[in-house]
Amino acid sequence: MSRYGPATALIVVDVQNDFADPAGGLSVAGGDRIVPVVNGEIERAIAAGAAVVYTQDWHPPSTPHFAKDGGLWPVHCVADTWGAALHPALVVAGPSVRKGATGEDGYSGFTMRDPVSGATVPTDLETLLRERGVTDVVVTGLATDYCVRATALDAVRLGFPTTVLTDAVAAVDLSPGDGDAALAEIAGAGIRLATSASSASSASSASADPGSAR
Ligand SMILES: [Zn+2]
Repeated sequence: MSRYGPATALIVVDVQNDFADPAGGLSVAGGDRIVPVVNGEIERAIAAGAAVVYTQDWHPPSTPHFAKDGGLWPVHCVADTWGAALHPALVVAGPSVRKGATGEDGYSGFTMRDPVSGATVPTDLETLLRERGVTDVVVTGLATDYCVRATALDAVRLGFPTTVLTDAVAAVDLSPGDGDAALAEIAGAGIRLATSASSASSASSASADPGSAR
């Protein structure tokens, strides 16, 4: 039994050197350890005919997202640098959606937020999934308490029954417990939590709405 089928997309969030490599600019503890787990899911997804889609943080050198420019974060994932590249051990088997390229905060793979106006703008991800006939998504990657959380919450808001694989994510934990709190919030939003080893025979969030595609 597989959680994947032709109408499923596996979303691999921000498995980039700056997050996943211990030498990265915003290294996530355990970020490199999820890479083989994610690769196993990518293999299972491909075998089942599912789509595999990646996201990448893709920032300009200066952005209000960075602490040096008045924001929260150390410099990370500057466009076209080593840190922004997908981890070299990650299997790449699909398109990548880049977020934040014109200075937005890009936590979710689906939406970005203008840090000045607060306006939310969509990325290409939803269109890409709808065009492929995707009706449900599985979310993996980095980091649990930021981009994975935001991507999963947006996915379910957009009507995709959503699963997060708890052993294929890792948290920043800026404050201890942030990752666990994010998983609790995710579960509270009606998102299924599973592990990579579990076979998801029950796609049982019953009200999957087949009419929501395109
Ligand atoms: Zn960022």
